[in-house]
Amino acid sequence: MAKVLYEKDIQKEVLQGKKIAVVGYGSQGHAHALNLRESGHEVVIGLRPGKSQAKAEEDGFNVYPVAEAVEQADVVMILLPDEMQQKVYEESIKSNLKAGNALVFAHGFNIHFSQIVPPADVDVFLVAPKGPGHLVRRTYEEGAGVPALYGVYQDVTGNAKELALAYAQGIGAARAGVLETSFQEETETDLFGEQAVLCGGVTSLIKSGFETLVEAGYQPEVAYFECMHEMKLIVDLLYEGGLENMRYSISDTAQWGDFVSGPRVVNEDTKARMKDVLTDIQDGKFAKGWILENQAGRPQFNAINNQENKHQIETVGRELRDLMPFVKQSVKSKQKDVKV
Ligand code: NDP
Ligand code: MG
Ligand code: MG
Repeated sequence: MAKVLYEKDIQKEVLQGKKIAVVGYGSQGHAHALNLRESGHEVVIGLRPGKSQAKAEEDGFNVYPVAEAVEQADVVMILLPDEMQQKVYEESIKSNLKAGNALVFAHGFNIHFSQIVPPADVDVFLVAPKGPGHLVRRTYEEGAGVPALYGVYQDVTGNAKELALAYAQGIGAARAGVLETSFQEETETDLFGEQAVLCGGVTSLIKSGFETLVEAGYQPEVAYFECMHEMKLIVDLLYEGGLENMRYSISDTAQWGDFVSGPRVVNEDTKARMKDVLTDIQDGKFAKGWILENQAGRPQFNAINNQENKHQIETVGRELRDLMPFVKQSVKSKQKDVKV
């Protein structure tokens, strides 16, 4: 079994006296910065002028242009959108790193796919919380934490691992458990999880189920509740206690249907296609496509996004959720936050 580390396994001191620049103050940025500061570390923020800048200043941080924040820091955590990182790195970060600094990421994409090639004289590691930023912040405030992965890509000081662990502790992750990984494993499993299961798999499953019912003449509202709304109730049970706990809670009829029909829907063919998806991630085909899509100004991304937002399950869902204000509220507050 993988070794999980907790607070008692970590030397907090290695990060003490080091100035940390958190670059970006979005979902992860605000959570890391606030948690690190409350854990006793010195934090400055690197940003461009804008919405995040105002928020970081409101939260009492000294905010600098990215280059100036990096210039004065020992540890530089890059919490920009992945597709912006290369540009900002080339323009404002690279030339301001000093020998012995640490360059840190919360996702391995840019290093693993060589979009950022770090200088040879800095430590490079990742600390990747396995949860959205607002949860990283909220659980910290509650005295708990979100588990995280850490991984070392380059260790020039001989201290990179200890620094990564101390950083993980600073954001509260060591209260929940910290697990060692590599940039390769973190990047490939994160992309696979979101594509095949968490995001791509689930949205396609929900839409296909909804369409099957509606095309067979059932009311779209009933199909929505059955295929979308109830998903959360099931996922909560899975989260709390795995498949067994979920199956314990549902009726025996539902459980029998799960056993006999689930494998007819998601079968060996599906798994073979999952393997194709994984291959595209591993050999860099997916990354290349996404990088080119961004360079072209995201024509397909925007077109598909518009199309998806017009799907009947979305129009029906908006109407139904308007009648369930408790649902609407929580969705709003989480917009743009839950990235996986
Ligand atoms: P967000 O989109 O929430 O935040 C990005 C931040 O970067 C904003 O503060 C934005 O400020 C700032 N920014 C964007 N462009 C620039 C620029 N050119 N110069 C300076 N600042 C800029 O990102 P996330 O927090 O979601 O993601 C950050 C990293 O964390 C990524 O590597 C991601 O993969 C990783 N991650 C994210 C998770 C999540 O749940 N969100 C989970 C685990 C890892 P502005 O207001 O000016 O646009
Ligand atoms: Mg039912
Ligand atoms: Mg991801």
